[in-house]
Amino acid sequence: MRNLVLLFGDQLDHHSPVFENFDSRLDEIWMAEADEEFTRMWVHYHQLEPGRPRDKGKSLEEILTRDLHELEPEKLTCVQPGEFRLLDMVNKLAKKNNLDLEIKEDNHFFYSINQFKEFANGKKNLLLETFYRQLRKEFGILMDGKQPMGKKWNFDKQNRDSFGREDPGKIKSPRSFTTDKITSGAIDLVNQLYAAHPGNLDHFDLPVNRDEALALSRDFINHRLEHFGQYQDAMWTGKPFLYHSRLSAALNVKLISPKELVSKVIESSFKGEIPFNSIEAFVRQVLGWREFTRGFYWTREPGYVDSNFFNALEPLPSFYWDANTKMQCVKDSILNVINHGYSHHIQRLMVLGLFCLLLGVDPKKFHEWHLAMYNDAIDWVSLPNVLGMSQYADGGLMTSKPYTASGNYINKMSNYCKHCEYRYRESSGNKACPFSTLYYEFLYRNQDKLDDINRMNFQMKNLNRKNRREMENILERGRFLRENINNI
Ligand code: SF4
Repeated sequence: MRNLVLLFGDQLDHHSPVFENFDSRLDEIWMAEADEEFTRMWVHYHQLEPGRPRDKGKSLEEILTRDLHELEPEKLTCVQPGEFRLLDMVNKLAKKNNLDLEIKEDNHFFYSINQFKEFANGKKNLLLETFYRQLRKEFGILMDGKQPMGKKWNFDKQNRDSFGREDPGKIKSPRSFTTDKITSGAIDLVNQLYAAHPGNLDHFDLPVNRDEALALSRDFINHRLEHFGQYQDAMWTGKPFLYHSRLSAALNVKLISPKELVSKVIESSFKGEIPFNSIEAFVRQVLGWREFTRGFYWTREPGYVDSNFFNALEPLPSFYWDANTKMQCVKDSILNVINHGYSHHIQRLMVLGLFCLLLGVDPKKFHEWHLAMYNDAIDWVSLPNVLGMSQYADGGLMTSKPYTASGNYINKMSNYCKHCEYRYRESSGNKACPFSTLYYEFLYRNQDKLDDINRMNFQMKNLNRKNRREMENILERGRFLRENINNI
């Protein structure tokens, strides 16, 4: 064999550069469903079963090592993996086996890793806004000559509405997909091999091939994009998707490319029916945030995963695995994850992430939970979003302040507090909202670090308005919550 072409699970791109010069008479493709990839982030004891399949319990590295000995290729080729761990593994194996290794640039993204490194060069802190504007100009996206279309770069103020007291009303259900034989076979296999894992597949409804991914993108553009911007931060009990696209998993395994998706969204704007703030909000997520996250990952790894600015060492509460909590906001958000492998960005950042930040959960453990639970979580996307944005574990390399809030924010953006036995306005006493208690406790506990962050001044002033008695009551309630964390 001349060349063994390695294809990883998140590289299902029809136009992958790995197929350039591929000759089926001389070359072969290697793919593996490695047991370790499904179990490494959720470590429990599994009893050895009789009749285990050949690769049961094996890692990608073990399977590839065995296959290299059997196949004896002259060369290995792959596209840049989405994870430092895999890149490291491929490099080491090639070296150990004296094989040439060609790693091709991943053309799925707008920017190459080197282009991002050039952007980052010499900058202490990297700002999304600077990066996003650079890409808009460079690719001529939503530009009117040298000016941004709509005369503004940012429509955030129009994009933070909640549904208020109203029910969100009838939102057309997202496009559904019939489960074919291959998919139902895969579901049966997962149910059989990983029956004890958290999450369930009863609601599985993801696009599993390129046609379905394209159909889901059309469905989003036709039925949800119009209100996406306005309600992108809103939450509602029992409504996991609202106006969100659900395309992140398809994008991350490369069934659809961000370039074609952005083009389709921009094309839809020509009809003039979709408000510009929605178009810009979506382009900002894909062209801005997604590219920024990926570039950031490759400029910081290895080593970034161990960041822990607040020295947070608490274990992850048990309700993150089973939704067994009285906090309505947390319960609903985790049920979405268990049932769909998904929750939208505000549930991730301002409910589940916020609770871990305030409680002081070890950020690496929270990151591992993401990798285990979300169907769109790949290291390059999860690590910066969780450690940098949600947990501020890098001390401000990715965002200029920690995303902190009390129960007030959750009440403003959802209907959760209406049905909760805790009271979002109260931060002490036995009905106090855990978010509101832990919010002040967090500010108090980390005062020395937070006082140095300019954008935290307003919140620190609020903390300082609490008199000694109020603070003692908050801290007492905080101690109670910590002692009973798995039963709140
Ligand atoms: Fe969440 Fe607090 Fe509101 Fe309950 S009261 S839903 S815990 S924010």
